[in-house]
Amino acid sequence: MDNLSKVLNETLQATLPSIGKGQVANYIPALANINPNQLGVAIADLDGKVFKAGDADIPFSIQSISKLFTLIQAMKIYGEAIWKGVRRDPSGLRFNSLVQLESEHGIPRNPFINAGALKICDQLESRCSTPNFQLLSLLKELSHNNSIKVNHRVAISEIKHGARNAAMAYLMKAFDNFENSVEKVLESYAHHCAIEMSCVDLARATLPLANKGKTLTGKALITTKQCKRINALLVTCGLYDEAGEFAFRVGLPGKSGVGGGIVAIYPGKFSLCVWSPELNKTGNSLAGFELLERLTGALEISIF
Ligand code: GLN
Repeated sequence: MDNLSKVLNETLQATLPSIGKGQVANYIPALANINPNQLGVAIADLDGKVFKAGDADIPFSIQSISKLFTLIQAMKIYGEAIWKGVRRDPSGLRFNSLVQLESEHGIPRNPFINAGALKICDQLESRCSTPNFQLLSLLKELSHNNSIKVNHRVAISEIKHGARNAAMAYLMKAFDNFENSVEKVLESYAHHCAIEMSCVDLARATLPLANKGKTLTGKALITTKQCKRINALLVTCGLYDEAGEFAFRVGLPGKSGVGGGIVAIYPGKFSLCVWSPELNKTGNSLAGFELLERLTGALEISIF
């Protein structure tokens, strides 16, 4: 681990020329104003150490990375019953595609595409009195950072331009797979996506997934079995229709968001997060993906 900071710096420097090759997300207008020239990476290890390089302390919009934490919340509450309304297979389609949902009777393929995450939020809405507050509290606790907050401008922008997500939720409702008010769940979902955290925060917050579900103090966030299942879902579904490519090139369970963040887990060792706002055609961070490929190559690590 001694040379970790050096390797992080080297891989970051080697990746900088890729900035400018992608495009920041603009279908949520409030995300379009971001400075694209940013790149950061952080690793949190099981000894409690954090290694970082570049823009690792700048908070960014976590977007779909929130789906990982809402899944954790729902798994804790529902256990196996969670799988009544959502499957756990890769979709092979874009994260906000509607086509499968109609032919598969309103049951989303997995909790990491938008339809699946909306279904998870619907489940949380049914059983939590304050789902948004509870999510924020969990993230603050896991990342040891009390200043984590929602960017309300981004949340409102997403709600205003969220016709596709509304269509998914209504389609699920038509198939009797949605219990709560669509508007209420969409609002909650948009607020989860608009939470801002840094690479350091997210590396820390995902550490239990590298530690069989336990935090560094030994407290069980989730069971070992749930941890195995979430990591399996991250491998097969975490990067949507690029999950196979991510497994091929990076070799770790991972979850991306259109804010340009990608978290990845190296079970038994560490968790990490990269961030660069420009996305590739699949909606995943272009430079972030490349940095992770370089880093896992340089460290010769993979779960395979
Ligand atoms: N808030 C975004 C949406 O619903 C999240 C998508 C993503 O990060 N891939 O479209």
